[in-house]
Amino acid sequence: AERFEEVPLAPPDSIFKLTAAYKADTHPDKINLGVGAYRDDNGKPWVLPVVKKATDILLNDATLDHEYLNITGLPEYTAAAARLIFGPDSPVITEGRVASVQTISGTGANHLGALFLSKFYGWNDKRVYLSDPTWVNHHAIFPQVGVPVSTYPYYDPQTIGLAFPAFLDALKNAAPRSVFLLHACAHNPTGVDPTREQWGAIADVMLEKGHFAFFDSAYQGFASGDLENDAWAVREFVRRNVPLLVCQSFAKNAGLYGERVGALHVVGASKEAAARITSQLSVLARAEISNPPAHGARLVSLILNDPALFAEWKRDIKTMAGRIIDMRKELHRLLTEELKTPGNWDHIVNQIGMFSFTGINPTQSQALVEKAHVYLTANGRISMAGLNSHNVRYFATQLDKAVR
Ligand code: PMP
Repeated sequence: AERFEEVPLAPPDSIFKLTAAYKADTHPDKINLGVGAYRDDNGKPWVLPVVKKATDILLNDATLDHEYLNITGLPEYTAAAARLIFGPDSPVITEGRVASVQTISGTGANHLGALFLSKFYGWNDKRVYLSDPTWVNHHAIFPQVGVPVSTYPYYDPQTIGLAFPAFLDALKNAAPRSVFLLHACAHNPTGVDPTREQWGAIADVMLEKGHFAFFDSAYQGFASGDLENDAWAVREFVRRNVPLLVCQSFAKNAGLYGERVGALHVVGASKEAAARITSQLSVLARAEISNPPAHGARLVSLILNDPALFAEWKRDIKTMAGRIIDMRKELHRLLTEELKTPGNWDHIVNQIGMFSFTGINPTQSQALVEKAHVYLTANGRISMAGLNSHNVRYFATQLDKAVR
């Protein structure tokens, strides 16, 4: 046992497996719709022009060195990141009530948030409620720090929309002061978000029951093309004083996937409480990573703190969100007008963000992978970013075939 001979082989990550199969496929029309990363109209990764500019500035900055950052990260980055999600005029910002720590992208923020709650939350019933379905990693992150997971109904396959009444019932039936993980916008994997009215009703029940909102914000700006719009739910919950934290990622909206730029923001009851929360988050972060990586945080700090770069970033975000929204419209048009594919496809244009739940079943998904060289997960989720003006027609035709 000391040489680990008994260690069992773990199954490969399902998305990784799908990508490997895609790479091995030699068919000229193959499409990868599994990948959760933005691609341009030629199917290539896109370095945002504003990120290129910021990189040039950093490269030419002779004052920079490779010293450690603070345990809690680059202060001008975490402060700007907090203003971005809460809004610069938010009372939680002006009153200094946010405890912000730089994290290893959104995953690290989820992890640190889970760890912090595990140690310091006043649980009645130690568990986190996750939407059914959710980003698969949520199911691994919480148990890893000793927080069991339960699910709440979220997606209704009948309507290919939100299972709203069942969701509200789950909020009502959970023990008081339960923790609910909510996707701030662009729900992964369904692309189905509550309407503003529904968010209001969710907040009402959460306040009534004293629940805690664990917001995961991985797509601010990337979803609608508008940073303010995509922060609406978080800000509304802050306005209503729902207790909450926010996990923030710049992987998607700044195209900085591999740089691991994220932040955890825990809202405290007072400035003093925020200082105490920060001190404990520092202790946790110290034991795990000591200090976060500098380069990506410097890039995002430049972009958020320079008005000209910030304006350019907003244009880049519009480019990405706009292309994805155009692909939704074109796919919908091809299915409904040209191919007259059986069924209702309005969810393709009503869903938001990188992903779309097509509503096709596992057999149909498998047929697409095996016969059409179109790679997608068995649950019928497609990454809209994998579609472009060159392959959308091929995909629509193959989808049409698979459902007939
Ligand atoms: N939360 C959700 C819902 C996501 O979709 C993702 C990215 N797949 C993340 C968090 C974290 O990603 P990252 O660690 O790359 O920021």
